[in-house]
Amino acid sequence: MIALDVLGVNGALSEGKNTSLVVWENPQNGLLLDCGSTVFQDVLQKRMVEHINTVFISHRHQDHIGSLETLLEYRWLVLQKKTAVLGAITSDILTDLLGDEWSLYAELLTDMPQYTLIPTTHSPRMPSTGLFTHGVLYSGDTNASLLNTPSAQKAHVIFHDTALQTNPSHCSLAALAEAPLEIRQKTYLIHYRATDYETLRCKANELDFAGVATTDMHLTIPRSAY
Ligand SMILES: [Zn+2]
Repeated sequence: MIALDVLGVNGALSEGKNTSLVVWENPQNGLLLDCGSTVFQDVLQKRMVEHINTVFISHRHQDHIGSLETLLEYRWLVLQKKTAVLGAITSDILTDLLGDEWSLYAELLTDMPQYTLIPTTHSPRMPSTGLFTHGVLYSGDTNASLLNTPSAQKAHVIFHDTALQTNPSHCSLAALAEAPLEIRQKTYLIHYRATDYETLRCKANELDFAGVATTDMHLTIPRSAY
């Protein structure tokens, strides 16, 4: 059984916690999906930080990477644990965050058959990527739907960036609604403005999405599903 905790669901220009999830392969081995400014204090207070051995970064905006430096420092300096990182993260970014000795803190994963990276389009000249792993598809931020990808077919559950209106940086609900019913039924909408929640919830219901993700939501995925 894979467990999944939603830490936050909101976008950068909104009140609420930054969009972030933890996928638990087991209670001692968590994969953090994005580490925005609100995330480190949250995983520290929830006593999750020592078990988050791997961090995926979708792109370099602060609501996705803002507390990665503190998380890597805490795990190395306090817990003596090195953290694996992957996604839209490079040795140059790690050097910016932690200096030339970044490899003390972090191991950069590059060849990883269990992780499928899906390039996305979000912000000009900024690399960005979604992730499919353990039956979970996470879009990160993207202005184009990933619901038409092979990973969406294979996924047991999908968390997809959403905007109520057409938007140059984020995928509109109308674009997501073009996906087939069986894809919509396993897709949770995420990364929205807190003030849009009620409208999104009604539309998600009308359009047969799984729902709108909420902070502290908890899901499990049977191993047979991936
Ligand atoms: Zn972004």
